[in-house]
Amino acid sequence: MSGIYLHIPFCKQACSYCDFYFVTRDGLIPEFVDALVQEITAVPAGDGSPFPGDPVRTLYLGGGTPSRLPLSQFERIFDALNRHFDISGLTECTVEVNPEDVTTEWLSGVRESGVTRLSMGIQSFQPELLEFMHRAHSAPVAHRALENVARAGYTSFSVDLIYGCPGQTDAQLLDDLDRLLAYDPPHLSAYSLTIEPRTRLGKQAELGRLKPADDETVVRQSRLIRDVLSANGIHQYEISNYARPGHEAEHNSAYWSHENYLGLGPAAHSFYWPGAGLEAVPRTGMKGEQQPGMEGVPQPGLKKEQKVESQALRWYQPADIHAYGRLARSDSYRTWLDRVLSGAQGYRSGETSATPSGCPASPEAKIPADSGLPASSGFSTGSGFPAAFTAPPDGLETEQLSLQSLVGERVMTGLRTRGGVNPDELASRYGHPLTPSQRRHIAEFRKRGLMEPEDPLRLTDAGYDLADAIILRLLD
Ligand code: SF4
Repeated sequence: MSGIYLHIPFCKQACSYCDFYFVTRDGLIPEFVDALVQEITAVPAGDGSPFPGDPVRTLYLGGGTPSRLPLSQFERIFDALNRHFDISGLTECTVEVNPEDVTTEWLSGVRESGVTRLSMGIQSFQPELLEFMHRAHSAPVAHRALENVARAGYTSFSVDLIYGCPGQTDAQLLDDLDRLLAYDPPHLSAYSLTIEPRTRLGKQAELGRLKPADDETVVRQSRLIRDVLSANGIHQYEISNYARPGHEAEHNSAYWSHENYLGLGPAAHSFYWPGAGLEAVPRTGMKGEQQPGMEGVPQPGLKKEQKVESQALRWYQPADIHAYGRLARSDSYRTWLDRVLSGAQGYRSGETSATPSGCPASPEAKIPADSGLPASSGFSTGSGFPAAFTAPPDGLETEQLSLQSLVGERVMTGLRTRGGVNPDELASRYGHPLTPSQRRHIAEFRKRGLMEPEDPLRLTDAGYDLADAIILRLLD
């Protein structure tokens, strides 16, 4: 399964806590949509999917605030998506909206375009908290927006809630939950307020004008949310996410389990693991020849002298709407994408002796006969994405990921979910069985009641309260 994410970087105003990439100039929308449509058509999608043999299952429009787009611009984007990709088999199509934007007409219009799920940034109904967060909506506007969601016929939607604000009381939080539950949301995301350095709140904290909530309050409020929602049939399936059974967000779940996804738009990122590690990767795949093009490049989580082979690639669009526009329109980006996505297709089709298509300058991408990998495994043993890595176009950043960094990510994201992570998966998909030291830590966590006694590795409620520390210890 693969997903496509589109970043729509427009907001009515800057929320005081936000460090996502956005602009507040709606006048740039037409030019941005032109660039996005160009970018969509730049993606090689031979069989209707950017990832060979991996159909597109989920589509997510986030931001920013996609609901800033007038319907006509929204339709242009969907038109391009429909013409270029096969999105007829989507199982989920989500769009983020803000209460101040959504009329019944807009909501019905995007539904006709194929949107099946909304994610609405409510955050709170308390006037003083909305003001503190510098949100663009008021409580009555939030109520009206939620009524419009029902009126437009959406049965699947999510609401965002923020807790752990300085001075926020438990009574206020309970009132917010009460009001939200009146709309029977099938999905809810609850985030504790984090004060990021380059935000208005960050500056206030730096000047000593803001005192963040203490850890005890944050943990107590997160338990309160969990208890109230669970009493209402909405279970926690990830550290910040709650759903009625069957309403868990598919798109985000795919991120957590290293499915392929393509991110379009400024500040979006993409992830591609040819074969997505679905076949066993022998431990020998980590033995450490230097990759072409990787000389001198530090790999996350490794000492300088260690050498690894990359298995997956992440690439990052510039967090600047103008730089993004230049990139999306450039031939070099088109060629680069073709090399990454079509080139890797050559590996998948078992071209052990031919140069992968689109990579004419990469004879080293051949799979050696003694590699121990089946020709159709989808992995090259010594090359990764050579042409892609050596020549990303201006403005694009790339990161090659070794199995070692991938397994670290998987442990982290897996432990944040109620499903946990299976040690067998770490061994077979990532080539990293648990180490003796990790086993010791796990035994200790189990003894302290922080982890469930049986595999898969899953945190208990008490473990969730200490999730960051537990994950850190396991990845040490
Ligand atoms: S609406 Fe969302 S993306 Fe925009 S500034 Fe507020 S939090 Fe950030």
